[in-house]
Amino acid sequence: MTTYVQMFSEGGKDQKDLLGGKGANLAEMTRLGLPVPPGFTITTDACRWYMTHGAPPEELEAQVDAAMATVETGLGRRFGDPENPLLVAVRSGAKMSMPGMMETVLNVGLNDRTVEGLAAVSGSPRFAVDSYRRLLQMFGRTVLDIDAALFEHVLDEARAAKGVRSDTELDEADLRAVVARFQEIIREQTGHEFPQDPREQLRASIRAVFDSWNGPRAVVYRNTERIPHDLGTAVNICSMVFGNLDDRSASGVAFTRDPATGAPGVYGDFLVNAQGEDVVAGIRNTRSLPELQQLMPEVYDELMAIMARLERHYRDLCDIEFTVESGRLWMLQTRVGKRTAEAAFRIAATLVDEAVIDEDEALTRVTGAQLSRLMFPRFATGGDRELLARGMDASPGAAVGRIAFTSADVLELQRRGEDAILVRRETNPDDLDGMLAAVGILTSRGGRTSHAAVVARGLGRTAVCGVEEFEVDEAAGEIRRGGEVVARAGDVLSIDGSTGEVFRGSVPVEPSAVVRSLLGDGDGDTDADDPLVQAVHRMLEVADRRRHLRVRANADTPEDAARARALGAEGIGLVRTEHMFLGERRHLVEDLVLAADADERQRALSALLPLQREDFLGILRAMDGRHVTVRLLDPPLHEFLPDLTELSVKLARQEAEGVERDAHEQKMLQAVRALHEQNPMLGLRGVRLALTIPGLYGMQTRAILEAAAQLREQGLDPQVEIMIPLVSSVRELREITPEIRAVQEEVAQRTGQDLDTHIGTMIELPRAALRADEIAEEADFFSFGTNDLTQTTWGFSRDDVEAGFFFTYRDRGILLTSPFESIDQFGVGELVRIGAERGRSTRAELSLGVCGEHGGDPASIAFFHHVGLDYVSCSPFRVPVARLEAGRAALLEKEFELQH
Ligand code: ADP
Ligand code: MG
Ligand code: MG
Repeated sequence: MTTYVQMFSEGGKDQKDLLGGKGANLAEMTRLGLPVPPGFTITTDACRWYMTHGAPPEELEAQVDAAMATVETGLGRRFGDPENPLLVAVRSGAKMSMPGMMETVLNVGLNDRTVEGLAAVSGSPRFAVDSYRRLLQMFGRTVLDIDAALFEHVLDEARAAKGVRSDTELDEADLRAVVARFQEIIREQTGHEFPQDPREQLRASIRAVFDSWNGPRAVVYRNTERIPHDLGTAVNICSMVFGNLDDRSASGVAFTRDPATGAPGVYGDFLVNAQGEDVVAGIRNTRSLPELQQLMPEVYDELMAIMARLERHYRDLCDIEFTVESGRLWMLQTRVGKRTAEAAFRIAATLVDEAVIDEDEALTRVTGAQLSRLMFPRFATGGDRELLARGMDASPGAAVGRIAFTSADVLELQRRGEDAILVRRETNPDDLDGMLAAVGILTSRGGRTSHAAVVARGLGRTAVCGVEEFEVDEAAGEIRRGGEVVARAGDVLSIDGSTGEVFRGSVPVEPSAVVRSLLGDGDGDTDADDPLVQAVHRMLEVADRRRHLRVRANADTPEDAARARALGAEGIGLVRTEHMFLGERRHLVEDLVLAADADERQRALSALLPLQREDFLGILRAMDGRHVTVRLLDPPLHEFLPDLTELSVKLARQEAEGVERDAHEQKMLQAVRALHEQNPMLGLRGVRLALTIPGLYGMQTRAILEAAAQLREQGLDPQVEIMIPLVSSVRELREITPEIRAVQEEVAQRTGQDLDTHIGTMIELPRAALRADEIAEEADFFSFGTNDLTQTTWGFSRDDVEAGFFFTYRDRGILLTSPFESIDQFGVGELVRIGAERGRSTRAELSLGVCGEHGGDPASIAFFHHVGLDYVSCSPFRVPVARLEAGRAALLEKEFELQH
């Protein structure tokens, strides 16, 4: 017989798969001897059984009864006993904490009879009735799926009738009336009475937890976070302790360090005479933890000792939930706490200083995604900006976007390519879609531990919470202050999650302290003392020591090259040359295209040569001593020519008006027509272009090598690599390399400089990857062009996907993330692996790199490390992220698994 139930006293923190995170940690705290109310966990096995069979396993009920009996004996109370009833909380808890799961139902076991027993043993009828109305409300909302507003409305009316603001001011009689109304609501909405049988309450609650695993919000979240759908959730049954018993009772949440900044020192909120979610719901104003010291000094001391112990034990920031029942402290939850990017870096570095973890472990606790968040710009100080209001600095960052009051509105803005700020009174799990899609979140209620704040920090969204002066009227689509409208849906707001400030309109942004210090300019002195800046430098140092992948940058200008170098680039993996043919040089390209014979063509090329040489001089100088890979001209020529339609219209008009047609334009029209393609992306590009216009790549090679020779004469050390794009067959290379080699020899001889240059190719077409062994015979290096490789492997164009059907594909779970952002490891990645393997089989010393967008993407970097590439190349600002992730990839290589 399978055991589906485990007492808290039997488990431990390493059993998250079986017990869920919450259950495993409750067991761990119990094992440590901390004051945890007794209880047990129904395992994820039971949930998985339920999902496949549509009903719980048969033996579950008896096992739950047995576990319940153990709890009853320990506490001397019985579940359903009208004299002295045992009450329990039913709490969902998957391996990873997950929004959208069933919310906890407290006070299970109360009914019309046991409530009187509870009143008698506690000596507080008001407390007993308050607990009962909470059960009806939570059970009604979460188990029976009744609109929460119906219950809230009754409470609003009760408060209004009495002229009070808080539930705590309602007395026993008021609450009895509320209980009666709640029971009516349940009857009206479901057609059944609220179940008076405690066992029935328990059964229904357990099933509701199982069902919530496949609730729509949970599914959306798992898709976004790439969490498998078959893990299932555990259910924790925990005996109740009461923070709402009297004024020596309280309920609270706390962190062992500040989860927003990572600064040392405990951090938390609590409410006297409160139960469960009161603290995070933003219903009443919470008090901060230091006040507990004055109110209940012994409890406070015990709590501090427990928190210190938990942090030592888990060797990381922990967050906890606690309840005080008549002066006695109970621990209800702990886990390694979510944190902002800033806190992640500071905590990792501090824990090394405190000798809790070593540097390698510290590196595994920060991520490239977090680092890139720290490199986001922040609002520029000074200048005129209109401060609208101020709230709590709940999740750092600077976000500018249009006001949206609902998730649907956020998604609508996103579809139109606009950034949205989700504005709500307070958020709840229903808002998750909108929170995921918004750039920022603003709430008028709740503090730094509110739902909005916690979720925003987890998602890395900027959030300002508790802007109390705002009345958020979602129905009217307005934000008001003192009755006056201050903003409407669609208006632009700028919110600063690091200061809590809210500005009207779009405030300009400036580089973050981390970026300034990485670039080594700005007011270095103040930044150097910044503990965050120090932590980032330290983690990057560790990463640089550990990584095997080298990091280069994609840069097309001397300025970009210099910036990339400052950010740690060890070379340039991709210099695109197309911009060298634009602007004023356009007419030179036109001459090239219109050239009637070899002579005219040669003349057009010669005119381009000195201009190109200048460009290369600047870039090679900025990257002196490091590899610079120059890609010869890639895009289709028509991109440099006038638009076909425009030109046709112009000429047709000239004809209609009887004006004599311009001969040059006439010729141009013919050329443009001739070059017009149905699918330019799959057309005359790259090496195909070079083979059609002899001399083009020769001219570019000459410009590059003459620049290199000139720098060598000046005593510099340029390291040039020449790269040929869009190759699919070794024969193309065999045709084109002689032209390049000939120029190379000629320039070397004429200048007397050693210009031994690597000539390599991009691997960006499936055929090239498959024939890599052959291609490697002619190439000194490969650079995987994963953008084109993705387009050609999937057979769709990037622009069409991202502007069009990506949302459909994502909603239907076909694509989880855009394959242009993170490499499709099983498809496109497989071609990279094949290309690398086959290439090296011919030429062992073949250098392998990546120069697509993917070179700066964390998950892709781990993959490139895994397949053994030599370097990644990404945009300059992503270089630090790539360094960090390359280091992490080396440390975490044993745990690497292919990811969809
Ligand atoms: P979540 O995963 O949303 O935090 P929890 O199960 O931890 O859900 O609990 C929700 C709220 O109920 C928390 O504030 C917690 O402190 C409270 N709570 C949970 N179990 C008990 C219990 N046995 N007695 C009293 N309060 C409880
Ligand atoms: Mg909790
Ligand atoms: Mg390409």
